[in-house]
Amino acid sequence: MKKSILTLLLLAPAIFLFAQKIGLSRVEPPNWWVGMKNPNVQLLIYGENIAKTDVVINSDKVRYISSTRVKNPNYVFLDLEILPTATAGSFDISFQLAGKEKAKYTYRLENRTLQKRGFSPADLVYLLMPDRFANGDPANDNFPGVRQTTDRANADGRHGGDIKGISQHLDYIQSLGMTAIWFNPMVENDIPIYAYHGYGATDFYKVDPRFGTQAELLKLVDDMHARDLKFIQDMVFNHCATDHWWMRDLPSDDWINTSKDFKTSYRAEVIADPYASESDKFRFSSGWFVENMPDLNQHNPLMANYLIQNSIWWTELSKLDGIRMDTQAYPYPDFMAAWATRIKDEFPDITLLGETWMAYIPFTAYFSGNSPVAGSYNSHLDCVTDFPLRYAFEDAFNEEDGWKVGTARFYYTFAQDFLYGNAYNNVTFLDNHDINRIFSVMKENVKSFKMGIAILLTARGIPVWYYGTEYHSSGWEHDGHGAIRKDFPGGWAGDAVNVFEQKGMKDTEKEVFEYTKRLGNWRKTNTAVQTGKFLHFVPENSVYVYFRYTETSAVMVVVNNHNIEERKFDGTRFNEILKNYKSATNIETGKKQSDLKSFTVPAKSVTIYELGK
Ligand code: CA
Repeated sequence: MKKSILTLLLLAPAIFLFAQKIGLSRVEPPNWWVGMKNPNVQLLIYGENIAKTDVVINSDKVRYISSTRVKNPNYVFLDLEILPTATAGSFDISFQLAGKEKAKYTYRLENRTLQKRGFSPADLVYLLMPDRFANGDPANDNFPGVRQTTDRANADGRHGGDIKGISQHLDYIQSLGMTAIWFNPMVENDIPIYAYHGYGATDFYKVDPRFGTQAELLKLVDDMHARDLKFIQDMVFNHCATDHWWMRDLPSDDWINTSKDFKTSYRAEVIADPYASESDKFRFSSGWFVENMPDLNQHNPLMANYLIQNSIWWTELSKLDGIRMDTQAYPYPDFMAAWATRIKDEFPDITLLGETWMAYIPFTAYFSGNSPVAGSYNSHLDCVTDFPLRYAFEDAFNEEDGWKVGTARFYYTFAQDFLYGNAYNNVTFLDNHDINRIFSVMKENVKSFKMGIAILLTARGIPVWYYGTEYHSSGWEHDGHGAIRKDFPGGWAGDAVNVFEQKGMKDTEKEVFEYTKRLGNWRKTNTAVQTGKFLHFVPENSVYVYFRYTETSAVMVVVNNHNIEERKFDGTRFNEILKNYKSATNIETGKKQSDLKSFTVPAKSVTIYELGK
């Protein structure tokens, strides 16, 4: 008697279930690869009541390990092992109720693409915002149902730039001496405002259709690689958009952190601060970035795995040379280290760059891989963003040299490189998409601006060039992000100025453009600047001298920060390097001097000499 009651109780939900609708909307990652070092993959399955089904897989390619159900019955997480004997091909995942199939997904395993990856100090990286570079395909500007339509009159709106526009101007990018391109994110951002910048993902697995198709993206990557241009993709693990599809139906309460009313403090320094309170650390790591960007909880292992697999998926699919991780410090540091370790396991030569936006060097250095100042913590990053150097660029040329100011800012910045794991890998920049245009900060002084360019392209680090800096684009962040992310002139039909063709440009724009092009292409051929060691001398009399050198070659860089006076100086002070050389050729004028004791450099300038044996 008791037994039959139990049977009835067990059967009751089953009968109820037959009446319930079963749906299958998403499987992520949508495909995977054979030959990964980690044979396991965890699939997020989303669909109406999908957790109530039995998952059945009959395949000799995979072993079903387990499934994880969460609070929301519309999700199930499936752990599979891809067997060592598996070859590329497909298998079916069947979702059944009482032996009857209610939904099916044909899962595809692909072969991996074996290729060399990575970028290095030998590269010069062009950073561009895809919406703002060139509109190669006006037909994809709008789609029915997208939350924000294209409107160039709105500085914060979508402007229509796309993958095709980038593809059409690879010649241009390379003509400047660039060897890599870093793209702001291109995943779907179907949000009602600011839909253009890429940092508000609504689907981590989909190229925003206003940029183009996945096929177009993969074609762009192949075209770039065929030209020896490297591909660096921006990724965001810290947050998504409130319009992300899962926000309408979260898997569990701990999928995201806190609420829109609890914002981060943006004080990344608390991660390294030995006296930081737990409440400050909690607020920084668990607060929302802005009210329409929910903070993802990477301490939920399902979320952690989701993000890591997403980055592996894009890296394998789009043959990434590098990843630039947005807001590197904001997700939990232990998770970020685990991510870097895992992705390096699969792609040992990929280059990982973390955005570390902090003013002070020790805090920035804390996040560098193998940092000597991070105690037991190791981010395993290859590169961090050198914001402290950017701050030196901002101020040094606007002021007279002094003990701590002027060129001393460069001296002290580089002198603290012992705090980094490897400062040669620091990513250096004059501009980026989040900060005031350096031309405006430098009071639109062309001499100062060219000095910045010369230092960026010759000092240690991996220089990043933000699109538009080549024609000294100006703009202040306080006027809105649109002011520092202007449409590239010539990227839209009918543009009055076309920088791609150097038409309609002002004289100073042309001067800066030609200078950039000359130095960029020169850098591409100069081994000392690309791979050499760095040696500098304490600034004296407004002059700061540094060298890049290898066993067989050297470049001497002389920065004269005095506004009106040329400087003559005795080269004997620099004999550590100069003793090995017999001549110095000014790379700008072509003038060669054999007397290495007597140098004369103009006021407010950077003079670059190639040393000859
Ligand atoms: Ca377009």
